[in-house]
Amino acid sequence: MSDSEKPSGRSLAEPLGSLLVVSGPSGAGKSTIVRGLLVEHPFVFSVSVTTRAPRPSEVDGIHYRFVSKDEFAGMIERSELLEWAQYGVDLYGTPRSAVIERLEAGHDVLLEIEIQGARQVRAVHPSAVLVFVAPPSMEELERRLRGRGDTDAESIARRLAIAQSELTEAPEVFDIIVVNDDVDSAVTDILSALRAPRTHSFG
Ligand code: 5GP
Repeated sequence: MSDSEKPSGRSLAEPLGSLLVVSGPSGAGKSTIVRGLLVEHPFVFSVSVTTRAPRPSEVDGIHYRFVSKDEFAGMIERSELLEWAQYGVDLYGTPRSAVIERLEAGHDVLLEIEIQGARQVRAVHPSAVLVFVAPPSMEELERRLRGRGDTDAESIARRLAIAQSELTEAPEVFDIIVVNDDVDSAVTDILSALRAPRTHSFG
């Protein structure tokens, strides 16, 4: 959102930038949509910390900051995470200070996180825009997870089970749900939601 689009008379406690949360099942195509969003809008992408081992294509500090379980526990202890969650056997979290500093400086910040984390963001940052990316179908989701070739069978089964429960919970948590069958229109819909005045309140 550009400064000229923002309402005037904002309270000082309210950050200048907008916080966009993109969530949804692993394999639904969140990353593709996030890439499209980053091309279309100057978001700052929040790099998460995780205890998961890096995949061959992943670079520390770019895709994630890869940390030990002890380091992650220390970050929780020191309240350094805006939100965090266990996903499968691994822990994932959003470093708080980087996000807050960027928002206060007027940047729009993009988080790509799972649904428990999205709920926590809603609680601490009610004006965040929460987007759920749904796969076209469960069959398609399974096909995509298998096709990635970098996730083992046990992990795929676990991710499918998590996806099923996330799909059930999504309507009560998220502002918009986009079905990922056309990336360009999903990106357009999300940017429209970000620009729309947020008149609803969250409890
Ligand atoms: P993956 O292991 O496939 O990279 O990520 C697994 C799940 O963790 C995905 O749904 C991803 O969006 C989510 N995730 C990544 N970073 C974070 C984070 O900082 N917090 C939370 N809650 N989830 C995250």
